Amino acid sequence: MYKLDTIAAIATPPGEGSIAVIRVSGVDAEQIAAKIFFSHRDKKSKLQSHRLYHGTLRDPKSARVIDEVLLAIMRQPRSYTGEDVIEIHCHGGAFIAQRVLQLVLSQGARQAEPGEFTKRAFLNGRLDLSQAEGVLDLIRARTESSAALALDQANGNLSQWVEELRSELLNVLVQVEAAIDFPEEEIELLKRPELAQEVAALTDKISIILASYEWARLFREGAKVCICGRPNVGKSSLLNALIGEERVIVTPVAGTTRDVIEESINLDGLPVTLWDTAGIRETADEIERIGVHLARDYLEKSDARIVVIDGSLPLSAEDKELVIAAGQARALIAINKSDLPGSLTDSDLNGLNGRIKYCRVSAKTAEGVPELKQELRNIILDKEIEFSPVAITNLRHRSALQRAEDALRHATESLSEGFAAEFVAVDLNEARQALEEITGLINSEDILDKVFANFCIGK
Ligand code: GDP
Repeated sequence: MYKLDTIAAIATPPGEGSIAVIRVSGVDAEQIAAKIFFSHRDKKSKLQSHRLYHGTLRDPKSARVIDEVLLAIMRQPRSYTGEDVIEIHCHGGAFIAQRVLQLVLSQGARQAEPGEFTKRAFLNGRLDLSQAEGVLDLIRARTESSAALALDQANGNLSQWVEELRSELLNVLVQVEAAIDFPEEEIELLKRPELAQEVAALTDKISIILASYEWARLFREGAKVCICGRPNVGKSSLLNALIGEERVIVTPVAGTTRDVIEESINLDGLPVTLWDTAGIRETADEIERIGVHLARDYLEKSDARIVVIDGSLPLSAEDKELVIAAGQARALIAINKSDLPGSLTDSDLNGLNGRIKYCRVSAKTAEGVPELKQELRNIILDKEIEFSPVAITNLRHRSALQRAEDALRHATESLSEGFAAEFVAVDLNEARQALEEITGLINSEDILDKVFANFCIGK
């Protein structure tokens, strides 16, 4: 239940710093400030909202000065939580910040739970649930692109998109429910093919956004690319050519003596980790066995793979095997050593795996390397996904959207196959509910507790 008491917490991280901020929110916030804060300049008049005041904090019991501080009051509703909020900027350091918090608590405030400020903001309609989650992601963001995605969400872009979709869905639902209420007129009322089309269009919109989850993950965590091929085709050389000037770190991955080399490159804003499995086969038997396992492991973990082939030699059985094994995975063939007289023709490759693109490169002269990079980026990021109007990064949103998508597909089928309007309405309502869970229009204590428990205290 939403408690109307006044909450307080240290909003800055623990440890020493030049300042610490103690945040107080609730009906008693202002009264607490009046009891403990003494402004240097303006001793009598009421503090104005959204102004910073310089003064001292004193314990009303002993009249002892606790600290010299800056204090701001933000009166409701123009505050983060939508309630009266005071912020006390005291000197940084674990002791003094705790002392100030204790002082505030002794005047009737309660220690806030993790995320409780943001939860109150949500309960007071200052932001919706997906925006609150955006705030959390923003705090946790580690790269520029993930921070940008989180900020978009905190600003309500996802909420707005969900709201538009929901209102389009309600338009369809109204028509279906009208057909339930007036069954004798169903035939005229329910324009099934048109409605089926509308619902299918909504489903497509959701599918695009769902795909953005994967895309956002790649930007947030980076894509993993495995370079594979038989010995001496030029995997290591190609790795170096791909790194070029962008060399970041060289870390032989722990495990065996010479196993997998890991390098990071930036493909036009997309972080990519390259794994080179070159060393694996050149070692003693036992290690080779471990290494082959490891290579398979890396292949499975990768988001995409580059199969390297030596273009100066005829295609070997092993090359063919690797190309065929790439199967449906996102893969690219690099026909290396294009600076040497070629013996591999296009027709040698035809029929092996029609889906795979190939690039002719020379790791030695770097010819074709920019094109290879471009192709690599293309296979990792499905181009269409890049144009999705909003991106989702949160698993909870993804599963809600997936439920909405499934329900809408069902509804389209029911409409096309002539099922009773009641069945269609059930599916449409399920989709509506799933959408409403994203923004928190429908919420349960359970969902709220899970979302806000992830926050730190003081946020
Ligand atoms: P790996 O075992 O697949 O990692 O292959 P390496 O990168 O160690 O290369 C094997 C040999 O091929 C080395 O002697 C390289 O100098 C040579 N090599 C690699 N790439 C090229 C290339 O593009 N052109 C030519 N001419 N030689 C290359």
